[in-house]
Amino acid sequence: MVSSYRVQGATGEWEVVIGLEVHAQVTSRAKLFSGASTEFGAEPNAQVSLVDAAMPGMLPVPNRECIVQAVRTGMALQAQINTWSRFDRKNYFYADLPQGYQISQLYHPIVGEGLIEILLDDKDESSAKQVGIERIHLEQDAGKMLHDQHPSFSYVDLNRSGVALMEIVSKPDMRSPEEAGAYVRKLRSILRYVGSCDGNMEQGSMRADVNVSVRRPGEPLGTRTETKNVNSVRFIMAAIEYEASRQVDVLESGGKVVQETRLFDPDRVETRSLRSKEEAHDYRYFPDPDLLPIQLSDAFLDECRGSLPELPDAKRHRYETELGLSAYNASVLTAEVETARWFERLLTATGKAGPEIGRAASNWVISDLFGALNRLGKTITTSPVSPEQGAELLALVADGTLSGTLAKQVFEIMLETGEGPGTIVEERGLKQTSDTDAIEAVIAGVLEANAEKVAQYRSGKDKLFGFFVGQTMKAMQGKANPAVVNDLLKKALS
Ligand code: ADP
Ligand code: MG
Repeated sequence: MVSSYRVQGATGEWEVVIGLEVHAQVTSRAKLFSGASTEFGAEPNAQVSLVDAAMPGMLPVPNRECIVQAVRTGMALQAQINTWSRFDRKNYFYADLPQGYQISQLYHPIVGEGLIEILLDDKDESSAKQVGIERIHLEQDAGKMLHDQHPSFSYVDLNRSGVALMEIVSKPDMRSPEEAGAYVRKLRSILRYVGSCDGNMEQGSMRADVNVSVRRPGEPLGTRTETKNVNSVRFIMAAIEYEASRQVDVLESGGKVVQETRLFDPDRVETRSLRSKEEAHDYRYFPDPDLLPIQLSDAFLDECRGSLPELPDAKRHRYETELGLSAYNASVLTAEVETARWFERLLTATGKAGPEIGRAASNWVISDLFGALNRLGKTITTSPVSPEQGAELLALVADGTLSGTLAKQVFEIMLETGEGPGTIVEERGLKQTSDTDAIEAVIAGVLEANAEKVAQYRSGKDKLFGFFVGQTMKAMQGKANPAVVNDLLKKALS
């Protein structure tokens, strides 16, 4: 087990308690209540319908696709799906919120309790921990203020206004920055498998409000602070670390933690107070009179369930049991949906199934392919080598055409030229040879040129065997079948 994380204060140890509210932008072509596009990167205010601009008399119409995505996400998190839910107005003024309220779901969210399993050590199933999900609700995103475009004016871009967000609220179940990091990565992975959010944290498709409190181990929950809109896993972890030690300092010097909203400053790696915490009643929530409650039929739920793919945990277990992969390999290959898809296309292309090909293929992907992609600054989606070409290479190793060393050479040429391995082997004569006559002739030459070492070997210096293998392989430009070389050398030296 991974040992528990503690903050060491002057007066003893403190436990950190973390709960995350993740805002995930729903993958849908149109916004939550309007037909305007959600495409990223458009000119400011190019994607604003009359509904998003809150023109008088405009009425919201729920986008079915957004409801589908929230329900599918809930199902993927093994959560309670609420067949009756409702939208509420959360009232406040802000220049990027033309309606003067945000449509959200406070009282009757579409998804209730669920869970996410995280692995604290991806080599070790026993490091698994379950983090509870409190709820998922649907709400509108706001627009964006631009304060740096003009010396004395601020601008507003309403492209995001009305885009659907899922707010995924965890229980206060995490106990260290690492657990919070693992939780966000796992949640992101699941959302990307499901296809309900692209998980792009740099573009703001996923951001977290980070709730942190500290307590003496075993004591009741302490007062929390909430650090808003943190947009990378690294920053989330840094915010927790900073905030936990700040709270410990406050408590140890006799102060009290104030429940408040803070912001994270990535440049100074610190959190700062933004405003005192507002309560639900401050927002004058009430049911939105323009929208009917949402009632989900069994047929609708079946449709959502039927469109879910195999999820990362199930895939990881299947890779271990059916394909004989190590826990580590299974975990690496299933962490990102694109990697799993690439690996499965490779397996399909080999036309084989079971542990033998599973292990060979996974080892090749993880060491050779990932190594090369890293070196070239590419990802699996921009890989210069296709899964089908990878399968062809593995087949050439399996049938003895290529030794391990030759396969690496061929792979390098594939990366450079984009040619298939079969063509490369043919055109460059890189085939491994088991031609005993040719190998014997080379061995004879090697032994003749190293008569002194042959004498030493025969008088008991066994270690020299490797030297003869090396010389023979070198003379044959790496193309001799190593097993045959071994056999023939043993005979020649006996
Ligand atoms: P709000 O919406 O006002 O922020 P919630 O009760 O919905 O309040 O809680 C928000 C988040 O705060 C949840 O993720 C929850 O797990 C977390 N949380 C609640 N209490 C604590 C606490 N004492 N320490 C850390 N996190 C907490
Ligand atoms: Mg909150």
